[in-house]
Amino acid sequence: MKNQVLNILRFTLFLILFYIVSQLYYKKNLNIAEDLELIIGESTNLPATWVGIKNVDKNIPILILAGHADSQGLAGAGTPGEAVDKFGLNPMNSQISDELFWNLKLQELIVKLGKKKGLNISSYDPGIRNIDDPNDPRTNWSVGRRFAQNGGYAIEIHFDAYGSYGVGSGLIPPFFDTPNKIDESIARKFGRFPVLFRGGLGAPRRKIRILEIGKLEGSLEKNLRNLKTRQRTLNLLANEIVQAFLNGII
Ligand SMILES: [Zn+2]
Repeated sequence: MKNQVLNILRFTLFLILFYIVSQLYYKKNLNIAEDLELIIGESTNLPATWVGIKNVDKNIPILILAGHADSQGLAGAGTPGEAVDKFGLNPMNSQISDELFWNLKLQELIVKLGKKKGLNISSYDPGIRNIDDPNDPRTNWSVGRRFAQNGGYAIEIHFDAYGSYGVGSGLIPPFFDTPNKIDESIARKFGRFPVLFRGGLGAPRRKIRILEIGKLEGSLEKNLRNLKTRQRTLNLLANEIVQAFLNGII
């Protein structure tokens, strides 16, 4: 009888220990899930052969543009995202596409974090959300083009369309320029698009890089929409991008 009680006690103790260890293991795996690739989803698998080897001055001025900030209500408003378009959820802000909503949030955070880390970094927001003419001097592309012509590094951030409408994450390098070490550093984290992607888009033709962060779908979009994980997700993305800049200029 005494032995039986002892056995039950031992077994109970074993179960408690097993539970604790399994919980620790589970938590560890949750942290691993913060790995960039798991957060942003698949990167583009289009064939791209470019390599960025040109050196970059460590004080290079960097300009962050939020994709579609001047083209709301036009054909180029950006993706509404899977949550809104496929599952019928409310947009984050009914005045703008969900993509622009997140582009603006991330733009602000990248600049804030970048400054803290010593980068010569700034942002531009046209403020006016509908500018019909892409060559209007107030558009992202006009400001970005001037910035790049003066030797700066201009990059427009985007979230890609969901499902088969999108391609995935990656950097589209400038059309006429030799890719540099920042381009290389970003591409190593996010993937790389061919230079001639879609015939050379409007931004890359103006020496503006495009960074597709990831498709606005699945766990990335859920983590952004969920108030409990939003800030952590935005921080993680901003941190990865700022780190890529730092890796490229040092
Ligand atoms: Zn976009």
